[in-house]
Amino acid sequence: MYKIFDTINNLKDNKKGNKKKTYEGKKSLDNSSKNEIQYVECTIDLKYSLELNYKKKSLNDCKINLKGISSLIINSIRRTIMADVKTLSIEKVYIYKNSTVFGDEIISHRLGLVPIFISTELLRIYENRAKNDPNIIINLDINNNIYNKTKISIFSEMLNLMYKSIEFDLYKNQLIFPVYRDILILKINPGQEIHCECHCLINSGLNHAKFSPVGTIFYRMEPYVKILKEIISFDSSSFLKICPTGVFEVEKLGNLSRIYVKNSKFCTFCKECIKMNFKSKCIIKIGRNKIKINLIIESTGVSSPENLFKRAIDLLIGKSELCLENVIKNFKSDVNFKI
Ligand code: SF4
Repeated sequence: MYKIFDTINNLKDNKKGNKKKTYEGKKSLDNSSKNEIQYVECTIDLKYSLELNYKKKSLNDCKINLKGISSLIINSIRRTIMADVKTLSIEKVYIYKNSTVFGDEIISHRLGLVPIFISTELLRIYENRAKNDPNIIINLDINNNIYNKTKISIFSEMLNLMYKSIEFDLYKNQLIFPVYRDILILKINPGQEIHCECHCLINSGLNHAKFSPVGTIFYRMEPYVKILKEIISFDSSSFLKICPTGVFEVEKLGNLSRIYVKNSKFCTFCKECIKMNFKSKCIIKIGRNKIKINLIIESTGVSSPENLFKRAIDLLIGKSELCLENVIKNFKSDVNFKI
């Protein structure tokens, strides 16, 4: 039987008398002893209840408000989305004919950066395949006739999926296509042509940035602004001008006016309000709320932001379980080892 306790927090909580919940579950940690029932018991500190609010700005952008979770965990999710969530991208380009003014390597580089959508079902099938197995091939064959007097612009929508395997019949509705149809790859003059074959691969952002499913992803602790002493004066307009983002607002009290905090989340920490002296005292306090965190995800379109968030958490759970199993296996023989 294995028991895992958060001993430091236990001591703290005994003093404070905070409530704690204990989760207990059966888990076979050693394959060699399948008949033995082993228990993993975890004590989770529940000082703050976890809250999650999801706001979708557009199809590929979202903002997730999380409350009661450490920024370290949010950062792990962020880094997992950037580096570990797998996507499909063009890996190798075989150029059979290129009579355009662009070099082969420039065309290959541009093609490699085109984000390609693949459904989650197909992604799961292909990610288990051998690394060099080119099951998904995209073809580009454009010929601008010499008698044609205009240039041809080649956009990402002209990329054709060439090779289809058995899985495509199983998931007929799950297509593979460039996320944006209007990405300009190159322009060709009359009499020029390009024939190439692009082999796609599923990989993660750890290997190359083109596999990363996000453009921008960051987290921000929500700012807080506190007025320690009431500010009541005849002329408050000069004070309002100090804050460039409109955090403060004025409330009329007869001839006087009272200043209060309206939108603390707009604070950019410029510290202009702190520099102001009220009878040589600083009465405004600004800081970051460490338990209220906003995670902003801007996907490249290869997958929806909510799907990326879910996949990152699944990956983190898998990694943590693997790590725990290895720790227990390696140290099990040690008599002094206790969890
Ligand atoms: S730090 Fe700057 S942005 Fe924040 S409340 Fe003060 S003046 Fe406004």
